[in-house]
Amino acid sequence: MIVVLDSGCSLKDKASVVRFIERRGGQLLVSEIGDETHIGLIGPEAQSLAGEIESMPGVAELRAVAAPYPQVSREHHPESSEVRVGDVQIGGTEVVVMAGPCAVESEKQLSAVGEAVARFGARMLRGGAFKPRSSPYSFQGLGEEGLVLLAQVREQTGLPVVTEVVAPEDVDLVARYADMLQIGARNMQNFRLLSEVGAQTLPVLLKRGISSTVEELLLAAEYVVSAGNPQVVLCERGIRTFETTTRNTLDIAAVPVLKQKTHLPVIVDPSHAAGERYLVPHLARAAVAAGADGIIVEVHNDPDSALSDGKQSLTLNGLASMMAELRQIARAMDRHIAPPRDPTDLVPLTSS
Ligand code: PEP
Ligand code: MN
Repeated sequence: MIVVLDSGCSLKDKASVVRFIERRGGQLLVSEIGDETHIGLIGPEAQSLAGEIESMPGVAELRAVAAPYPQVSREHHPESSEVRVGDVQIGGTEVVVMAGPCAVESEKQLSAVGEAVARFGARMLRGGAFKPRSSPYSFQGLGEEGLVLLAQVREQTGLPVVTEVVAPEDVDLVARYADMLQIGARNMQNFRLLSEVGAQTLPVLLKRGISSTVEELLLAAEYVVSAGNPQVVLCERGIRTFETTTRNTLDIAAVPVLKQKTHLPVIVDPSHAAGERYLVPHLARAAVAAGADGIIVEVHNDPDSALSDGKQSLTLNGLASMMAELRQIARAMDRHIAPPRDPTDLVPLTSS
């Protein structure tokens, strides 16, 4: 429910409406849209308060909200929001490339990949320390040791780190090392985890579940935002369909659909959609052309010996050439991707 105030509504009347809602235990969201003030009534009390609010001084009309995710919907917040991670702004004119291995495996691996991706113009380093694997016998990640390596390579490269947290009880630990917390596809509807990352201050990268609708993704984002954390970036990473030639089917239409429905930034993971290295640049190009605010991509210095997702990981040279192509597409879309960096910018790793 949206309470639209009269354009000439006095500050006193506006304050009375807000106080009334708060006193009655309602949650609200105030936004200035054009020359109108909107008070979004959210939560279970909305319906019961609406009748009394309608007759209060300064109230022009009540409008029903179509979306069940009022805080992430564009209805309340027509301007696109930007999410800041370190010095990186996601959702502005830059198309942000996040790159790194599927899993952190060793200092040597992460340092080599981190150094290369920074040099090629990636703006953030990805890498899993806690890996949600389909099989219990697959490599589960290095845990805290992996987080330490991520923090070390952040020092080496200056790149902020995005890494996955798989359990509510790990949020504090992962947040001590990371700059952005990733919620993986398998956990998109782990509501305890969503509330936990919503109750802390690092930005969140929320990946779409493999069988989740766009609406379910937006509702998952609403969990995070309603728990107090507005800094959420959504990620389309492919969904499961009847098609088996790709690991998942990249729902490219989800990019403009999401951009239309929500003010949150939207990025694409072409790696988990593709499942095959050769496909990754094709999907990444499509994502930038479809209006994605960024790409998160898996890269490995020796993909054939990777402990997870080697088949879909780009080689270092593969990333360099993909980024050159993406820069051209970004330019055609009136956006930009950071240029390659001078290697002398990168601080050498001091430990052995
Ligand atoms: C990952 O990013 O390595 C990952 C496991 O992704 P997803 O949750 O999308 O499968
Ligand atoms: Mn992976």
